[in-house]
Amino acid sequence: MAVRKIIRMGHPTLRKPARRLEARELASPEMGRLVNDMIDTLNDSGGIGLAAPQIDEPVRLAIIEIGGGPGRYGDVPAMPLTVFVNPTIEVVDPKAAGYWEGCLSVPGLRGYVERPQFVRVSYQDLNGKKHVLELKGFLATVFQHEFDHLDGKLYIDRMTDPTKLVFEEEYLRYLSADE
Ligand code: ZN
Repeated sequence: MAVRKIIRMGHPTLRKPARRLEARELASPEMGRLVNDMIDTLNDSGGIGLAAPQIDEPVRLAIIEIGGGPGRYGDVPAMPLTVFVNPTIEVVDPKAAGYWEGCLSVPGLRGYVERPQFVRVSYQDLNGKKHVLELKGFLATVFQHEFDHLDGKLYIDRMTDPTKLVFEEEYLRYLSADE
């Protein structure tokens, strides 16, 4: 287990679509090590989600853990640490809402992004078992942000107003009270 280096915007891996994981790979010792490294790295970073390409592993794997309750992103429902293998996302209702997003690969910045607020996620767990989840509101935004990483996309690609890309310090000083 190890805290891995999180690569930043400009590293080519963040811009490449990641490859699907095969069933036989899921039970391998390498996969166990990778998932443990991702958990260590996420815990160390203080973030709520991490996609494998962010530690320079170009595979369709992401983890999300949300503490819940009042915090950095307002009052959100908790989600225990979950591993998502080969996730796909489908918009159930395109009605969008915006949040100030941040990204471990774009440190120090926040950007305002509007995304659909009702999505359905299909994924496999580490045993290859299939699951489906429906997510609304902020959680729908979190999942779209994380899974975008598997397609080589960053939240800044989704922004429609470039004046709403700001430094985190200034966001906290001038903008967070407006939410
Ligand atoms: Zn991100």
